[in-house]
Amino acid sequence: MRVSKFGGTSVGSAQRLREVADIIQENQRAIIVLSAMSGTTNALVKVAEFIKREETYIATELIQELKSKYLFEANELLSDFNCATFLDEWIEEFFNHLIQLAKQGYSLEIEKELLVQGEFVTTHIFTTYLDLIGIKVENISALQFMRTDRNAEPDQYYIAEKLTEILDQYPDTRFFITQGYVCKNVQGKIDNLGRGGSDYSATIIAAAIDAEDVQIWTDIDGMHNNDPRYVESTQSIEQLSYSEAEELAYFGAKILHPTCILPVRQHQIPIFIKNTMAPNAIGTRIGNDQIEGGAKAVAAKDGIIAIKIKSARMLMAYGFLRRVFEIFEDYKTPIDMVTTSEVAVSMTIDNDQYLNEIVSKLEKLGEVTVTMNQSIICVVGNFHADTKGMIGLVGTGLKNIPIRMISFGASNSNITLLIDTNNKSEALNYLSESLFKTAVYV
Ligand code: ASP
Ligand code: MG
Repeated sequence: MRVSKFGGTSVGSAQRLREVADIIQENQRAIIVLSAMSGTTNALVKVAEFIKREETYIATELIQELKSKYLFEANELLSDFNCATFLDEWIEEFFNHLIQLAKQGYSLEIEKELLVQGEFVTTHIFTTYLDLIGIKVENISALQFMRTDRNAEPDQYYIAEKLTEILDQYPDTRFFITQGYVCKNVQGKIDNLGRGGSDYSATIIAAAIDAEDVQIWTDIDGMHNNDPRYVESTQSIEQLSYSEAEELAYFGAKILHPTCILPVRQHQIPIFIKNTMAPNAIGTRIGNDQIEGGAKAVAAKDGIIAIKIKSARMLMAYGFLRRVFEIFEDYKTPIDMVTTSEVAVSMTIDNDQYLNEIVSKLEKLGEVTVTMNQSIICVVGNFHADTKGMIGLVGTGLKNIPIRMISFGASNSNITLLIDTNNKSEALNYLSESLFKTAVYV
């Protein structure tokens, strides 16, 4: 069985949904995971904000706007059939219920319930359409099987058991449609897997049913070797290892949710990233194989804060790093990059929520310098221990750009640099030039 996930733009209009219907028919049997139509979750986040500010009137207006959008697309989709009214009624009722929710006033539970509604309305409309064009399909609610545990991690055992139970009830059904992003938490309440979490839903499902593969359908033909927003003529990468894809996703490639690699890596299930607008393009295959050496892609992540602690006490001392790291741990703030010298350590974080608290604790250990507005540039590839010349190539590419930190050798799959965000665009372009156009290395 295959798992195919379609993102917001891929299901963003009646026309797109028709294309999705064509694409899925290539499969024997599949679970189709849908996001909400593009823009919906952002709108619902705003709805929740207005409810919180007790501006219910604006929240209601926003819900009405969403209703009009879905009514419009549903009518377009069903224009060849004489049954649009029954879907209209369903949509009316669906959004009226959301307005009722909004009027109850703010609570975290209501916010969470609201955020996942785009996925429910999108899957309902799509299922109705597939039924009408004669495709045997079952719409299964993610709330029936997708659950997180005490640590807010997917409860793999429960998910596998429930999903198998559900699939076994429909031995003749070819397609199952379900909502990405949606889950129940350990209290049994409606929750979500985080923004962009539909990719994660897809790979969790794939792991649970031991799928043959997972397709992530989006609006670009795979992961690219550089950021198309800053660099012209980027190219799609045909193959990546799980580690390479994970680094790229984490450090800036928006196309894939960073946590979605883990579930399929454990089961050795390949992921294919495909383009809904060019379904025949090869896209990117992510799997276990380490392919040839060298750099494959560059990605950047903004909003990084560099923190340096300098202390003579660090010299020849042990336990110093532990004390530093414990402070970050106490404030649940993950560290991305670390570099050390004999008397100083530099780290980066991307979450400034507890920055002041962290800094004042660190000041007890040494002299602290904080630099804001930094970007991590991540060069991803297969850099096995005897790869020669990579640092040279990266350095030559960036010879006119000040580098604040550099980290290499932690894994075989990345060289990570920290630069000022003002230099990011230039850096990405220089690296494209040095790594992908003129690169010669062994
Ligand atoms: N609709 C959700 C979001 O926009 C989940 C997803 O698209 O993956 O974050
Ligand atoms: Mg996405």
